[in-house]
Amino acid sequence: MALVNEHFLKMPGNYLFADVAKRVGAFKAAHKRADIISLGTGDVTQPLAPAVVAALHKAAEEMGTPEGFHGYGPEQGYLFLREAIIKHDYLPRGIHFTANEVFINDGAKSDTGNIQELIRWDNSVGVTDPIYPVYLDSNSMIGRSGVKDESGHWSNVFYFPCTAENHFIPQIPDKRVDVVYLCYPNNPTGTVLSREELKKWVNYAIKNDALIFFDAAYEAYIQDPDIPHSIYEIRGARKCAIEFRSYSKTAGFTGVRCGYTIVPEEVTAATLDGNRIPLNPLWLRRQSTKFNGTSYLSQRAAEAIYTPEGQIQTKEGIAYYMYNAENMLRRFRRLGFEVYGGENAPYVWMKTPNAADSWTFFNELLSRTRVVCTPGVGFGPSGEGYVRFTAFGSHEKTDEAIDRIERWFK
Ligand code: PLP
Repeated sequence: MALVNEHFLKMPGNYLFADVAKRVGAFKAAHKRADIISLGTGDVTQPLAPAVVAALHKAAEEMGTPEGFHGYGPEQGYLFLREAIIKHDYLPRGIHFTANEVFINDGAKSDTGNIQELIRWDNSVGVTDPIYPVYLDSNSMIGRSGVKDESGHWSNVFYFPCTAENHFIPQIPDKRVDVVYLCYPNNPTGTVLSREELKKWVNYAIKNDALIFFDAAYEAYIQDPDIPHSIYEIRGARKCAIEFRSYSKTAGFTGVRCGYTIVPEEVTAATLDGNRIPLNPLWLRRQSTKFNGTSYLSQRAAEAIYTPEGQIQTKEGIAYYMYNAENMLRRFRRLGFEVYGGENAPYVWMKTPNAADSWTFFNELLSRTRVVCTPGVGFGPSGEGYVRFTAFGSHEKTDEAIDRIERWFK
């Protein structure tokens, strides 16, 4: 008899965004002509930069010739992209990596979900709350999270609440946690961590022999020059942190699929008898067994982001979305809403008016204005009473959505 992995049965029925899509689908079925604007799921809307499109065309042409054809590539990614990453994303910040420490992936979701395979099943896990659901869901699928109680907390997980009351700054735990997931700029709150705050986490990890899985998928949205883009800007981080990056939000790659993970050679975890094991060769072993590489086309497209014209065009794309974030912040504040984030990230985090719970506000917003947001509680218990708006719409649709909300509240 094949036995099912019962840990799956403890999970919520749907991934959060599938739940949102289901509710919107039901609403559409009942209101066939409703003109719905989605500021819900974090998908981008604007076309790829011309430099990226040109690189895709060129790579496709190459693939159609005997000398330019590429079959399976290196599991870790092509050297041309790994070298471009080191040169453009790290060297200017004084951070040195070798190509062996860079792993190209098909987007950060896979690696942020898969990285937990490197640690023992009984390690303790800590997350900021609310948080991007993939970290906890992937740990729950293999039973590391324990069981979920009625308040939405998993029994074996440490939660570091981030709410307006603590200015969205997670408190360093007073207990030992083996692995901590941090995501900055944060999805969903759109808030950032200062260098001083990030330093506290790195020091905590070093002191407690913990690991930090640092998701920097939104680093390109940072506007404030004092906010760190990479955890490796903090001394000591290369001993305790693995960093994830993605081109999805940086350059509209949600449909192209490419990102990367940095696993420094110094980062180690212990065996029960105290031997230090470097994680870099383990990740290489894992990737070469279970992953056959990101497509040549996607990697050439990613390389084009680092060309002079690619960099200009990518910055323009980010500025386009940040205009929406500023617009939402300004107009929502004028309406008297409590809103956070949105200054160094493409997300605006709103406290629901009249202390409505997240799903009640989501439903009311949809039925009154035909605008879709994401209920904060879907990102964790401390997200209750908040909703998330994304800045990834077009200017016109975002403006129209704010107009509708304004009419509703006036
Ligand atoms: N990490 C965070 C925090 C995200 O919000 C997302 C996507 O929304 C991802 C990772 C995954 O992005 P991708 O797999 O498209 O690179």
